[in-house]
Amino acid sequence: MDAIERRAELQRLTGEWASCTLCPLSESRTQVVVGSGDPDAELMFVGEAPGFHEDRQGVPFVGQAGKLLEGLLGEIGLSREQVYIANVLKCRPPGNRDPQPNEIEACERHLFAQVELVSPTVICTLGNFATKLLSGRPEGITRVHGKPQPCRIGRAEVQLFPIYHPAAALYTPTMLETLREDFKRLPALLAGRFPAAQPAVSPAAATAAFTPEPEPELVPAEPAQLGLF
Ligand code: URA
Repeated sequence: MDAIERRAELQRLTGEWASCTLCPLSESRTQVVVGSGDPDAELMFVGEAPGFHEDRQGVPFVGQAGKLLEGLLGEIGLSREQVYIANVLKCRPPGNRDPQPNEIEACERHLFAQVELVSPTVICTLGNFATKLLSGRPEGITRVHGKPQPCRIGRAEVQLFPIYHPAAALYTPTMLETLREDFKRLPALLAGRFPAAQPAVSPAAATAAFTPEPEPELVPAEPAQLGLF
């Protein structure tokens, strides 16, 4: 599939999913937030779920966490237009609560279709939900962040690169430093300089291995401490 066909297919899917009623979030959402960026990108980010601003604007990562993500991308010479950004859930959970297993199960087909279509070289999973879903493993983000894992998702062979969710790093300066260090490894990963291969993961195990685990506790910090705004 060439770039034009890929873009057209993504547009067709976006239209189809706009009226999705596979889970109860369809009753509370303003709109479905499918994804944004370059459908031909070598680097894809997968977050958790749309928040208040994303639900209003129909674009992922447009709030504070999105600004941090853009800042970190800028530090490695990339813009958000050069990558593809999506979420585990395409609809906002009320009050930004955690995604529920039934919602993830209903929505994962959309994410898997996006991954197959974009077929990136590297997928950065942001936080626990995306990491557990796409790795098919139960280990939490604290243990696996910064460790690339070769992974097959449908027909796509990708390097999964789990990192902390920017929303968590917003409030925890030490986590922000770790996130920044992990980000700095992305150019080498994109250039194909991967570490020795680890066992591949069965995509079918993805939902089965998923067990909700809370993000590390958030401790509010002054925005000035973060050095990004
Ligand atoms: N957090 C996410 O995981 N996704 C968004 O789109 C915004 C915030």
